[in-house]
Amino acid sequence: LETYDRLQKLTVSSAVLGRALAITDAQVRKDLAYFGQFGYPGVGYRVSELIVAIKRILGTDKTWSAALVGVGNMGRALIQYRGFARRGFRVAAAFDSDDAKIGEVVGHRKIQPLKELESTVRRRKIQLGIITVPAEAAQEIADKLVAAGVRGLLNFAPVQIDVRAGVSVVAVDLAIQLEQLCFQVG
Ligand code: NAD
Repeated sequence: LETYDRLQKLTVSSAVLGRALAITDAQVRKDLAYFGQFGYPGVGYRVSELIVAIKRILGTDKTWSAALVGVGNMGRALIQYRGFARRGFRVAAAFDSDDAKIGEVVGHRKIQPLKELESTVRRRKIQLGIITVPAEAAQEIADKLVAAGVRGLLNFAPVQIDVRAGVSVVAVDLAIQLEQLCFQVG
């Protein structure tokens, strides 16, 4: 939708959206109808209206702040990625256990010691955690983030994380995606 908006298209049909998403136009209409009435007969969907509606549904109409733990190769890349801000995400604080990294500035953020994690997350009302530490440290970091009040974790470490009910975990594993790609190519 944002692409259509950039191309200054005012309306889009469920057929066009369906083609872009590789699903049927009926599925597009059904999915959107689940959340309300967005389309106009004979017109389709108004692009800017639908963007606002979907952001509200996803909860991305406000800025979400995240605390990132583990400022290594992966952590650094994520902190410096400008695309998050455009989608309403902000890495508000970054933590590491390595004394040599504490105080270093990465992407305008000073790396903080782990002992400041809880107070910083609470004070700044940070809702999300991004885990980019080695696998063996991931559960302990998840526990600290949850204890500090974080309600959602994006876990890059290749290990399953257990959290209490009410906290969500999304795992990112590029190796699995490469495996999927190999399966499709091979
Ligand atoms: P890295 O070694 O470069 O960085 C890890 C960082 O975590 C270091 O700065 C280290 O000081 C810090 N750290 C270690 N233990 C800590 C602790 N207990 N508390 C706070 N900080 C701690 O590693 P990397 O290449 O950036 O990878 C980071 C994680 O991301 C690893 O778990 C790796 O397996 C994973 N990874 C995932 C994907 C993916 O597709 N999801 C891809 C690459 C790497």
